[in-house]
Amino acid sequence: MIRQEFSRIDPKRRTTLHHSKKQFATPTYKELEYKHRLNFYATPPTADITLEQFEQWAIDRLRVLAELEACSFRNKTPAETAAHMKPLLDKYLPLSSSTSGSTGLHAERQKDHYSHFILRLAFASTEDLRRRFSRVETMLFRIRFQADDARERNAFVESLALDWETVGEEEKRALAKELRDSGGGYPKMIEEESYFKVDWERVPELVESRRVFLKGGKAYVPGREQLSMVVAEFTQRLDKALELTSRALPRLDEDDRLTPILNHLSQNFTTPDASYSSTTSLPGADISARNIDTLSSSFPLCMQNLHRSLRRDAHLKHYGRLQYTLFLKGIGLNLEECLIFWRQAFNKITDDTFNKEYRYNVRHAYGDVGGDSNRRGNGYSPFSCQKILTEHPPGPGEAHGCPYRHFSVDNLMNLLNAVGVKDSEVLRGVREDKEKMKFHLACNRVFEYAHKQEIKKVKDDGTWGAAQLETIVHPNEYFKRSYLLKNLGKKQGEDGSGDVKMEG
Ligand code: SF4
Repeated sequence: MIRQEFSRIDPKRRTTLHHSKKQFATPTYKELEYKHRLNFYATPPTADITLEQFEQWAIDRLRVLAELEACSFRNKTPAETAAHMKPLLDKYLPLSSSTSGSTGLHAERQKDHYSHFILRLAFASTEDLRRRFSRVETMLFRIRFQADDARERNAFVESLALDWETVGEEEKRALAKELRDSGGGYPKMIEEESYFKVDWERVPELVESRRVFLKGGKAYVPGREQLSMVVAEFTQRLDKALELTSRALPRLDEDDRLTPILNHLSQNFTTPDASYSSTTSLPGADISARNIDTLSSSFPLCMQNLHRSLRRDAHLKHYGRLQYTLFLKGIGLNLEECLIFWRQAFNKITDDTFNKEYRYNVRHAYGDVGGDSNRRGNGYSPFSCQKILTEHPPGPGEAHGCPYRHFSVDNLMNLLNAVGVKDSEVLRGVREDKEKMKFHLACNRVFEYAHKQEIKKVKDDGTWGAAQLETIVHPNEYFKRSYLLKNLGKKQGEDGSGDVKMEG
């Protein structure tokens, strides 16, 4: 599917496929017709595209998906998400209706089709990536489905030839009471409503919210719930397809043009504003080993907890060291200073033990040693809240993770008290957030409390806009914002302009 003409990779490096793998490499090359704006992505693309298009289209789709994930992480409502996504979709992944008269219809639909399949390859490798990909692709499909022209949407649904059995008039009459009772607020419209019968597992969303009548393993779904049914079908098919793709992946290893691009794409599947691949730039700030104690007053609770545990025990276990090292790297502590910091902090062990057991890991996190997943040479990116909240929960004796999630309520209250958050209103709010599992909202609540006056000032004098005060979803963003707010008006000197500025 890729034309070689613009490739930056030497064609001679292309591996000759073994004959047993040939069935994977000999599709019929043809241009597809795109009758509908929406797509269930059932047919893999087979026409030629350039390697540049391959990469660029995938990056554009990735931008859209990452932003969708960020919207869900910030608890935006579906309507807010659709409004937020519109300009991004128009820019990176436009998809006009057939009646729009647009001359770019084919190109738009082709890009949508190909980019979906490229990312399918990139995200099929692990269960976590498959789950996230399926979730955000479903969000994207839902937004597009809802925004589609009604006539075109019906034509698309018909084209899917879904095996939904229509409930006949007689059965509908016989079950009128049950259908009405499960009617979710539309009791009078039974006669006018069309119903479909589907296996109940295919509409989990409707079953869970008790919006359908169940009988003999079938869910009786009213026509107005078409959206839920189509979306559930989309997700189900995509999940299956991702499983199949993951099994086919080893064969791709033989194509050394694609593997680096696909690996790079999957590594970058983080929300754009949640990614800190480079360090935070705070001109003139003293980011050094000797100053970490002072700077730690601007750290979010997860990092304050690590810092306090480290000072108390002169030690941190592996994940704690990794989470904290990457955070420190993200605030701008260079490798040399980071090694000094850890060496001094681990003050109960000898130089020899430090060098043998800990030095390598710090250097590895900075990309100074190691290869493979570290291949870009910058080491690993600092962890986002999402990663900290969802991966590797801390076990006994471990201090990593997010205290809002991983601490008991009592321990969380004690820690907040210890770092100076004593306001009963704030603490009550944090308890409620924790109960509702809105951990990052609790964190933002504490941030707003701790920087109340400064936030008021930058809002009043208009120096910071809404974008600069958006919900924090990354510990390094927490630090950067806190540092800048606490140092408002201080001369930093290096750029010659004086005051610290908040970058966009
Ligand atoms: Fe750290 Fe994020 Fe938890 Fe706040 S929400 S404590 S920044 S992991």
